[in-house]
Amino acid sequence: MPTSEADRVPGHRAARFAVVDPATGEAFDEAFDQQPDELDAVVDRAHRAWHGWRADPAARTTALRVAADAVEAAGDDLARLLTREQGKPLAESYAEVARTAARLRYFADLTPRTRQIVDGRPVRSEIRWRPLGPVAAIVPWNFPLQLAAAKFAPALAAGNTVVLKPSPFTPLATRLLGSVLATVLPEDVLTVVTGREPLGARLASHPGIRHVTFTGSVSTGRAVAGAAAASLARVTLELGGNDAAVLLDDVDVDRIADRLFWAAFRNCGQVCMAVKRLYAPARLHAEVVEALAQRAKTVTVGPGLNPETRLGPVNNAPQLARIERVTQQALADGARAAAGGHRQDGPGYFFAPTILTDVPPGSPVVTGEQFGPVLPVLPYRSLDEAVDAANGTGFGLGGSVWGTDLDRAEAVAERLECGTAWVNHHAELSLAQPFAGVKTSGVGVAGGPWGLYGNLRPFVVHRPREA
Ligand code: NAD
Repeated sequence: MPTSEADRVPGHRAARFAVVDPATGEAFDEAFDQQPDELDAVVDRAHRAWHGWRADPAARTTALRVAADAVEAAGDDLARLLTREQGKPLAESYAEVARTAARLRYFADLTPRTRQIVDGRPVRSEIRWRPLGPVAAIVPWNFPLQLAAAKFAPALAAGNTVVLKPSPFTPLATRLLGSVLATVLPEDVLTVVTGREPLGARLASHPGIRHVTFTGSVSTGRAVAGAAAASLARVTLELGGNDAAVLLDDVDVDRIADRLFWAAFRNCGQVCMAVKRLYAPARLHAEVVEALAQRAKTVTVGPGLNPETRLGPVNNAPQLARIERVTQQALADGARAAAGGHRQDGPGYFFAPTILTDVPPGSPVVTGEQFGPVLPVLPYRSLDEAVDAANGTGFGLGGSVWGTDLDRAEAVAERLECGTAWVNHHAELSLAQPFAGVKTSGVGVAGGPWGLYGNLRPFVVHRPREA
């Protein structure tokens, strides 16, 4: 069995690029640096494999269930490699591998529903569903495996084939995942390609691709949409977020502080749906800052392979520089760090968990997406002011409202302009729910049956009822 796509691509120049362990800042391995011109052969083979894969839904169900088992069986190797290149604590890597397998299992059993159109005409008109063809899946570095599975599981279940491109910051666990799946799926049904830009740009614009499903930043999402316009391929974009959490005046700060802290700091804040801005009633503001700062100062930060670690490093040097820049800008704008506010001494890409107070609302740490372990806590005087501020950015991924009176909190949550709003939680997602951002946070719907239909096209067969 070939272990990598590069082994099979005629003329592949076997160039490689270094992969860095963010806990040390040192390169620890290399990945194939595939070139854009290699994609023609890859997409061509994905297209040929499609004809067999689309033909037999029952065989697909079986294959995807077996694929889930294979991922679980490789769990130790996948989790360790994921932590090594991504930085997250090992327990979180295991959870990510489990979610990867769970997605395969969920979509394995999902089939589209054929429907009759009943409108009084003497005809039999039936809506059936057809796969699209080769799908390009392009994913970021924060959850390389589970975000990849969120794309390839529904695409494969729908009868498409997939070319998957991970981020150059996290290519190795995805390459291993591809090798594991290659042992149980038909050849070329799922192909992993690794390389630096313009590999992704070329994949998004490739004329043989019929659906580009992308997760990443808003600016790259715009570029991907533009690239896919060349072939008019379908585009699904899951983009950045700047989720607000609004605390109500009846909130029990002690009771929610742990959950709230982890809603902001899980995966070192590198979660599209992390709490990235917190609005607290002016009366409770100091208490909230104190509760969160105390947790930020005492949480165990360290290499993800260390069993005590709860927060790992930031994934990569440019991201660390960006977090440092927005934090310093906030401090220069008059903010105060109640905890952290700086990089940690020593090797690796560590940034001290940071709670900011007295932050001007126009500071980039509030208006943009910091995507790191930094949380601004902003006081508000009226609920309308808080809701307006929460809705006042170009993003609209998620949001949450926290309080003791659940009906009141839900009524406030209803006013948030986003795809998912939680009460007393944040970023709790079911495989069965739709996942969609509004405004610049996304185009199209992933998750649940919507994710399956996002990889299908309707096909209507119309005939007279009687001969
Ligand atoms: P990014 O946009 O820089 O990169 C995402 C992917 O696109 C990577 O694989 C990258 O190599 C590739 N890429 C870069 N330039 C490209 C181009 N011109 N054409 C095609 N592909 C290209 O994002 P990132 O820094 O890797 O990830 C962080 C971002 O992802 C954050 O904004 C975060 O909110 C977002 N994100 C969103 C979701 C969601 O579900 N909405 C989930 C996770 C992350």
